Order: sequence, then C-alpha cells, then structure tokens
Amino acid sequence: MKEPVKIVLRSGKDQSAKRYHPWIFSGAIKKIHGKPVEGEIVEVYSNQDEFLGTGHYQEGSIAIRILSFGTEEIGEDFYLARIREATEARARLGLLNNDETNVFRLVNAEGDGLPGLIVDYYDGIAVMQFHSIGMHLHRDLLLKGLQETLAQKLTAVYDKSASTLPSRYAAKYQNEYLFGGPEQKVVREYGNQFRIDWEKGQKTGFFIDQRENRKLLGEYSGGRKVLNLFGYTGGFSVYARRGEAELINTVDSSAHAIDLAIQNMDLNFRDQSRHKGMAADAFEFLANPPDTYDLMILDPPAFAKHHNVLSNALQGYKRLNRRAIEIIAPGGIIFTFSCSQAVSRDNFRKSVFTAAANTGRRVRILHQLAQPADHPVSIYHLEGEYLKGLVLQVD
Ligand code: SAH
Repeated sequence: MKEPVKIVLRSGKDQSAKRYHPWIFSGAIKKIHGKPVEGEIVEVYSNQDEFLGTGHYQEGSIAIRILSFGTEEIGEDFYLARIREATEARARLGLLNNDETNVFRLVNAEGDGLPGLIVDYYDGIAVMQFHSIGMHLHRDLLLKGLQETLAQKLTAVYDKSASTLPSRYAAKYQNEYLFGGPEQKVVREYGNQFRIDWEKGQKTGFFIDQRENRKLLGEYSGGRKVLNLFGYTGGFSVYARRGEAELINTVDSSAHAIDLAIQNMDLNFRDQSRHKGMAADAFEFLANPPDTYDLMILDPPAFAKHHNVLSNALQGYKRLNRRAIEIIAPGGIIFTFSCSQAVSRDNFRKSVFTAAANTGRRVRILHQLAQPADHPVSIYHLEGEYLKGLVLQVD
C-alpha cells in the first residue's frame, strides 16, 4: 500500500485539530506533499511536524474531515468499530429493541466519530446519507459494518446521497438500494404511526430529530387550538391529536407533504373532524389566519444554509416569530425552532427576543429545546448542535 499523502498546516493553524475539531479548512493548509485525489485518506501534520490525525481529503472549504486523531488504520475494522459503538449507544438509549419507537438516528456524523455520514433507521431500513466523497468511496465497508452490527434486523439499505454530495462527484451516482429493495413502511414513534417515504421524502424521509419535542407538544395540547406551521408530514399534528387538542391545522407549502400528513392522521385516528391539512405558504397563512390559535408550532426549514446569509436568516426568524406572537391567543404557547447550523442558540434567542419586544406582549420561556440523544454532538464540534427550540408562553 502506498504511503498516505502528508498535509502540513500553517503555523498556528493546528490549534483546532489539537482540540479535536474534525474539520481542517483549506485556508489552514501550508503544503500538500503529493497529489491526493478527492476522498483519499491523508495524514495531517502541524508546521512543527507533529502528527495530528488522519482523514478524508476533499476540495472545497472543508479540505479534510478527520476520522481519527490516533494512528489506527482507516479500513473495515475501523468502520465496524465506530458503527458498533453508535449502535450500542442507541441500545443504551432503549431505542434498539423498542416496540413503541422503532425509528431513530443510528449514525450522526461528527457526533459519532464518522464525519460525512448520516444513517437513519426506519424499523429495519437504514437510509444512508453521505456528505463527503471519502465516506462515499468507503460505502461498501460501511454497508458491511451495518450488516454485521444489525444482522437480521436489517432488511434494506438505501443510499440517498445524490443531492448531498458535490455534483462533480454525484453525477456518476443515483440514489439506490445497496441491499434489499423498496418496501411500504409504517414506523412507530412513542406508539404513533407514520408512513415513511425515504425515496421521495425530504432529507431521509422523516424529521427524527423532533421526536422528544413532539412528545412535549403532545403534553401541552389538551383542549387547545393548534396551528402546525411548516408541518411536513404531520409529525407534531399527530401528537397534538393524541394529546386531545380541540382543533389542529397543518400547514405546509408542499401539497405532497400535506397529503402524507392527512394519511398519517388517518393511520392513527378514526375521527378526522378536528384536523385540517392545508397546502399554503406559512407567511401568507399568518397574514390572514382563518382561526385564533392558542398553541403554535413554528418549525421552518433552515433559513441559513451558510454563514454569509446569516443576517437574512435572523430577519426571517424575527418576522415569523413576531407575527406568531402578535396573533396568538392570551395564555398561548409557541413551540419555535431553528434548524440552521449557522444560527447559534444565542442568535436565535435574540431574534425571538426582538420579535417579542416588537409586539409588547409578555413572553416567557418555558423550555429550551434541542436535538435528542440519538443526534449526539461532539463537544469539540459545536457546529453539530443545529436544532434549537424555545417554548414560549405569551400572555
Ligand atoms: N415539523 C416537521 C418538519 C418541518 S421541515 C416535522 O416534525 O416533521 C420544514 C417544512 O417546511 C418542509 O416540509 C417544507 O415543505 C416546508 N416549507 C418550506 N417553506 C415553506 C413556506 N414558505 N411555507 C410553508 N411551508 C414551508
């Protein structure tokens, strides 16, 4: 085997790697000894020739994703060990053999020591989403790791990376089954049923990260009039109905999502008279709401995909939250979220603060929400903490 390419960082640019941050930005690189192809395993050294770690090389702003700060070989055994570790962590959370909840995140990229890889588990089906070329080049090893770890539990593996990998590379690939084939799947989350379409749905098919927040919403729903904005396939709406809400409106700009939301309500409840799904733009809906609500969910898509559009994103959160706080009934509750990685918890709270101040209403924070434990965050990589939420009481 040829020696791995050696990459030397500029003086002073080794601090973040020494603190176990798994990304090396292209601007930190002083010299590349050799010509690595994209996805190749490279070794990273400081300007003083100290070994820092081994990772996948890629052209672009994040030049190296470090897989190991030690000297272990990155191969079959390495991937198997990391997948096993991730699976054992989910087992400890009680998610692995659980009849009430059989959908969870099995691998959360940097949070599980596997930068560039997401694996979501839908009762036997693993949906892999690759975000780095190097990880994708190793997908057969990762598949093997999943098969060995999950054994008979695994019925299919779907690679859904055509839109998450750089197009120069992904052009050669399409989303495809690496094992097994299409199935109709209804999963359970806290006993609630959801039909999952991982092939056509957004992300890997379901927003698993909102599980605990949906459960909390259910506890607030009794007797309330609920508006679920950006409701996708009705996750929060099902919990609201389970919690005996008086009325639930699910709004999403995607008509297909609304169809699925209605189907999901049908799967769970016989009486649909309390629920209505509406395909509409959330901002337009809020300009002229058909009812007065006292429980609202604001769970928009990431307004800021990059740092350079941060101020626009903060304006978006401000506008959305301001309008919601303005129109909610006295004593109303708002579950408000941001899933933009580029928006910090502080910045998000500040935009909600400004929104509240603009309305002049009394607003209290009841809960501060985040992503659940099957979406762990490495303490050295706070970028992994993307989901932030506040539960507000508005008097
Ligand atoms: N709360 C959902 C996930 C929301 S994802 C859950 O728990 O499953 C964000 C959703 O916002 C997507 O379904 C997307 O179709 C929708 N969306 C994006 N822009 C929108 C807009 N302007 N108005 C309404 N919905 C929008």
